[in-house]
Amino acid sequence: MNKYIETSHYDALIVGARCAGAATAMLLARQGARVLLIDRAMAGTDTMSTHALMRGAVMSLHRWGLLDTVANCGTPAIRQTSFRYGNEDITLALKSRDGVDALYAPRRYVLDSILVEAARDAGAEVMHFTSLTELKFTGDRVTGAVLVHGSDTMEITADLVIGADGTGSSVARMVGAETTHSMKHATASLYGYVPGLDNEGYRWAYTLGAGAGAIPTNDGMHCVFTSIPTDMRKRVMTGGVQSVYRVMLRMMMPEIADAASATADKIVRFGGIRGYLRKAHGPGWALVGDAGYFKDPLTAHGITDAFRDAELLARAVAHGTEGAMQVYEVVRDELSLPLLRITDRIAACDWTMPELQSLHKELNRIMNHEVTEMAEMMPAAAAPRVAA
Ligand SMILES: Cc1cc2nc3c(=O)[nH]c(=O)nc-3n(C[C@H](O)[C@H](O)[C@H](O)COP(=O)(O)OP(=O)(O)OC[C@H]3O[C@@H](n4cnc5c(N)ncnc54)[C@H](O)[C@@H]3O)c2cc1C
Repeated sequence: MNKYIETSHYDALIVGARCAGAATAMLLARQGARVLLIDRAMAGTDTMSTHALMRGAVMSLHRWGLLDTVANCGTPAIRQTSFRYGNEDITLALKSRDGVDALYAPRRYVLDSILVEAARDAGAEVMHFTSLTELKFTGDRVTGAVLVHGSDTMEITADLVIGADGTGSSVARMVGAETTHSMKHATASLYGYVPGLDNEGYRWAYTLGAGAGAIPTNDGMHCVFTSIPTDMRKRVMTGGVQSVYRVMLRMMMPEIADAASATADKIVRFGGIRGYLRKAHGPGWALVGDAGYFKDPLTAHGITDAFRDAELLARAVAHGTEGAMQVYEVVRDELSLPLLRITDRIAACDWTMPELQSLHKELNRIMNHEVTEMAEMMPAAAAPRVAA
């Protein structure tokens, strides 16, 4: 029988407890806000990702005092990146900058759990197996929500409801968040976890119209993936996932193709989603992470941008004005649009190898600009506030 639990009030309800939502909950709770963080999924689970954090994300973890925890969970340090364009190999050593001398690619059950624990430590209430089913409005302002946890239904009120609930965001749908920019291209990918490969850093490889990569992650595994444009997906998939995975790796990373296809535990398939930017806030609501902004995973930048926007949103909430929320949206859009557009250009998969190299140089310039902007905007690590 359904139990109906009476209303509690929160400064912020955050829907979705992964990299965007848990980071935002932690930052708001550290600012002293009363936060409820919910997720319909079980705690400590994996989700679709090839895990590669870029410099901006590692800087955020460092600022938040969580980088050592990530490293101490056995997440291998990445000190170089290599790109293969057809037959040409380019290897770049990671430059030490802004307190970051290594990158990391933690499994999501590692990263998201660390963020959720940090949110809890800061004083946020955390409920898994809890779904948002309805938003409550007073006039056009979101003022609360109906949540379902098992057979219990609870209604809460909140000054702000934050949708950190991913690409299929219920919050975005329920508030009617407008899509302000839509991209044209998407890639599909196949990936699996492969044991026994040497840590040679992030490895990306390309041939005409397709990409592949090997990313060192936890438990002695590499996440080994291949990407193809979605309009080729049906044709390529007719051979079956295992053989497509093997054939594509043989084309781009022959040195690991047989080992990867023989030992990958299970091949995960992502069908592709076109990138978008949605309106980031409205009366009583805001979006963060994939809920408000998604780009093709080929540039491996979703987690980095989710962390960036968690910080921007937390700062806006601390100011507590509509103007500050408007600034959140403007800054997010200014930093995101160049990334979204270059990612879409790369996801078109219509380049020659020299063209792709130029696109990667432009991507690198845009990422460096983002890191510089974030380093200027964000103060050095704030001491975590320990919950009473
Ligand atoms: C194949 C693939 C590879 C990728 N590789 C990389 C990479 O290498 N590097 C990188 O930086 N990014 C990568 N990304 C992108 C990255 O995974 C996303 O940007 C990131 O997961 C976004 O995090 P999020 O917290 O916004 O959303 P999500 O991780 O999608 O989390 C949303 C959460 O909301 C919960 N939720 C949804 N609806 C409700 C509801 N109604 N009630 C309660 N809870 C709800 C879900 O259970 C989920 O846990 C990749 C993405 C894909 C698909």
